[in-house]
Amino acid sequence: MTDLYDTVAWGKSSKDSKFSQLKIQRNLPGADDVTFDLKYCGICHTDVHIANNDWGTTTFPVVPGHELAGVVSAIGTNVTKFKVGDQVGVGCIVDSCLKCRNCNDGVEHICSGKMTMTYDSKISHGHIKTNSGITYGGFSTSQTVNERFLIKIPAEYPLESAGPLFCSAITMYSPLCHWKAASGGLNVGVIGIGGLGQMGIMLAKAMGNKVTAISTSPAKQQDAMEIGADNFIVSTDEASMLSGADTLDLILNTVSANHQIEHYLPLLRRDGSIVQLGLVGKKHEIAQIPLMRKRIQISGSMIGGIPETQDCMDFCAKHKIFSKIKLVKASELDHVFSILEQKNDQVVRYVLDIEASK
Ligand code: NAP
Ligand code: ZN
Repeated sequence: MTDLYDTVAWGKSSKDSKFSQLKIQRNLPGADDVTFDLKYCGICHTDVHIANNDWGTTTFPVVPGHELAGVVSAIGTNVTKFKVGDQVGVGCIVDSCLKCRNCNDGVEHICSGKMTMTYDSKISHGHIKTNSGITYGGFSTSQTVNERFLIKIPAEYPLESAGPLFCSAITMYSPLCHWKAASGGLNVGVIGIGGLGQMGIMLAKAMGNKVTAISTSPAKQQDAMEIGADNFIVSTDEASMLSGADTLDLILNTVSANHQIEHYLPLLRRDGSIVQLGLVGKKHEIAQIPLMRKRIQISGSMIGGIPETQDCMDFCAKHKIFSKIKLVKASELDHVFSILEQKNDQVVRYVLDIEASK
């Protein structure tokens, strides 16, 4: 694997610049690789954090996008799982060491040698290449990855809805499975009903749980109930929060802005767990006694490994779970990023329509 080819991308050359069209280079498929034409890419709030250099770690120019969906255009000689014309997707991971215990266990995102993220990651394991040595994401016209990091999208699943499964859905599916909600029967709360939150409601419901949507936006109640929530709590309303006190076994917290976990802990009942998913920077201040009184656990979770992401895809296809999406063109990226930055006030995942952007 050595040769590079040109592809068009949309990215930002600095934190304060607007999105513009860029030319980048990716590797032609080596023996174990698959190249695919990108058709759609979901827009995650993490893209906003990284494009805004929220953690001071972004390398510019940055090409965001880690909810890729497209159609295979070329395969390497060793590739057996995919053929030209297949619908495929990529999430947040494009490489890892593929040797450590975590990679062998199919949790490549926890690779002991550090996973390579789909964009803004230094290339270190050698299964992918770009002109700069930094990965570029799905706001582009084509991508090449080792087949190990590719997800098969069933032919009948709408391609425009598939991208969000590879970040927003797996980020909810994985903790639902880990915290034993996959066989149903739990009271599950989802905080923040944006891109991740809506998938959390649909997945938890399809698994057979009772679902409570917890939102700062009363206007989201109807949408939340339509996609499967049984209850709705307005987190900024004291009476509403009191009505849900001591009811939940598991809370998936997707809040994208600084907040305090303590605000939500009274909603948990004995042995309940809250799982932090939002990538927020400010530390939380937590009193110990309430944790002890109800044996409460505070945890975190990040995306999921490749086999579990494929399970999530197959679960969504089987249960006909589709993200509520809105297609946008590259010329609208600045606007969408500013909406998400302020607060995603709609139950929607914006998805970049790549064909329409060319
Ligand atoms: P999103 O679509 O922008 O939704 C975030 C939601 O958080 C908003 O719709 C809003 O919901 C709530 N929110 C925003 N500001 C708030 C505030 N000040 N107080 C309380 N609630 C607030 O974002 P997303 O794409 O779902 O991503 C959510 C977070 O998860 C981001 O930080 C993202 O970077 C992170 N993330 C983590 C992983 C992981 O692996 N752990 C994966 C993907 C994304 P309401 O209007 O309903 O209150
Ligand atoms: Zn994401």
